[in-house]
Amino acid sequence: MSRTAYVNGAYVPNDMAFVHIDDRGYQFADGVYEVVSVIDGKMIDEEPHLDRLWRSMGELRMTEPVTRSALKLISKQLLQKNRLKNALLYIQVSRGVAKRDHAFPQGDLRSSLVMTCRRFDFGAVRERAKTGIKVSSQPDIRWGRCDIKATALLPNVLAKQAAKEAGAFEAILVDADGNVTEGSSTSVWMVDKNGTLVTRPLKDNILPGITRATLIELAEKHQIRIEERAFSIEEAKAAKEMFLTSATSCAMPIVELDGSAISDGKPGSVATKLVELYWDFAGK
Ligand code: PMP
Repeated sequence: MSRTAYVNGAYVPNDMAFVHIDDRGYQFADGVYEVVSVIDGKMIDEEPHLDRLWRSMGELRMTEPVTRSALKLISKQLLQKNRLKNALLYIQVSRGVAKRDHAFPQGDLRSSLVMTCRRFDFGAVRERAKTGIKVSSQPDIRWGRCDIKATALLPNVLAKQAAKEAGAFEAILVDADGNVTEGSSTSVWMVDKNGTLVTRPLKDNILPGITRATLIELAEKHQIRIEERAFSIEEAKAAKEMFLTSATSCAMPIVELDGSAISDGKPGSVATKLVELYWDFAGK
């Protein structure tokens, strides 16, 4: 069955789905996006993802392409048309099509909306969480508005590629002060020497991860001590545990950083507990 995409009002076969060459998403990466996981037919954290999408559009003064309820309907229809129950749903909004000029086009520009989905094996993610993953630290060379989920991802792409070439699954980004910011497409956590769960505060130029917010709630509900504070890559290397979160990785233990084992090189007990709590929450 060929896949179906949604492009500016029409459902089209994926290989016939195109955007205009003057689309500002293509010309300037002047766009924002969301990735939502769909597990057993359920959109995980749909409302927070839409909140973040609307916030990203607002921060960049983009017009909404459709209403929020229309977007929900399109999501549902797209999944149905693709007959998918376990999938990643991708939503992208760009400022729209206009003659190439850096400044915002004059007048009301209609933003572009593209949505796609593809089958995703969450069982494999859950399986991988049993052994954990390796990560590689990379310099964070991004801009000062990482709170916006923009499609301008070149620094993230370069970091992920460097991590891959180093034999790692994810890049852990490190700022000029030697502090961990986040992953190339994930939020990063550690359990420090005192057994406290630690993650960087949102005010310090990171994406407000939706899975991060859910995990904070789950940790608080289960009396796991948590602190939002900056931590260095050195502290992370000496941490009791490390793990990362995202819509696609869910909660994923980290067992090796830059070739050195984290503790005994096995997923730690807090991370393992949080992985379980997350899967319970996601209903699998
Ligand atoms: N940080 C960055 C830079 C990301 O791209 C992502 C993935 N969207 C995340 C964190 C995790 O966010 P979420 O839990 O909303 O997927």
